[in-house]
Amino acid sequence: MEKTAQLYEGKAKKVFATEDPSLVIVSYKDDATALDGLKKGTIVGKGAINNRMSNYLMKLLEKSGVPTHLVEELNDRETVVKKVSIVPLEVIIRNISAGSFAKRYGVEEGIVFAEPTIEFSYKNDDLHDPLINSYHALALGLATKDEIETIKKYAFKVNEVLKEYFKGLGVTLVDFKLEFGKTPDGTIVLADEISPDTCRFWDSKTNEKLDKDRFRRDMGGVEDAYNEMMRRVFGE
Ligand code: ADP
Ligand code: UDP
Repeated sequence: MEKTAQLYEGKAKKVFATEDPSLVIVSYKDDATALDGLKKGTIVGKGAINNRMSNYLMKLLEKSGVPTHLVEELNDRETVVKKVSIVPLEVIIRNISAGSFAKRYGVEEGIVFAEPTIEFSYKNDDLHDPLINSYHALALGLATKDEIETIKKYAFKVNEVLKEYFKGLGVTLVDFKLEFGKTPDGTIVLADEISPDTCRFWDSKTNEKLDKDRFRRDMGGVEDAYNEMMRRVFGE
């Protein structure tokens, strides 16, 4: 499979067309952004780590009945995926308070919830990805009622599978963001990526942060954290 035209360059990935109109190639970059794009930097090796980890986790999820866009890993940084029409919602699941949740509600980080929570942000850079509820998403025609139900069902399933998986690696899955897309026949599939860019991972024993928060918060040890997550997943 060969790349043809570049269709899109995002903050963390590029998307290329292929000779097959139903498939695209995503190419993961080392570029990192945070704080609504205000903070920019490089995390050396991140592209390869996110590509390989995301593909590994999507395979695991496929086995558990969550359909994904994954087709074939081409090399360290590039993967063939089904071209989907992205539902413009960032779907966030939380098991423990952190980040914007802690800030919005004025609570500390680290409160373990009795039940996981779900929330949506409207994926719209001009509006800075505002929080949105499912009624407003419906009113704006971002997805149908059935699609939103399917997305919620899959998102909680992803949480159950990944929480258990990471627990076995000594990692607490605090929260994460998912994106879903629609294939031409209308099937909802998990798309985009699942990686230390899009999840909060805390070491189960020490609560040490092993994710992008080290970059967002200028904590140092950013590459070490990504490499440590890679080591836990692949034993490398
Ligand atoms: P951003 O657009 O937020 O800067 P990225 O740099 O990760 O994000 O760019 C990747 C883009 O590709 C995102 O807009 C994402 O929604 C989109 N995307 C992810 N998976 C697919 C897919 N299977 N088909 C089409 N687009 C996808
Ligand atoms: N997240 C993401 N992309 C975004 C916003 C959030 O991948 O544009 C992830 C983030 O890594 C975390 C979860 O979603 O795992 C919840 O993030 P939160 O709402 O706490 O936002 P933040 O603290 O990043 O502002």
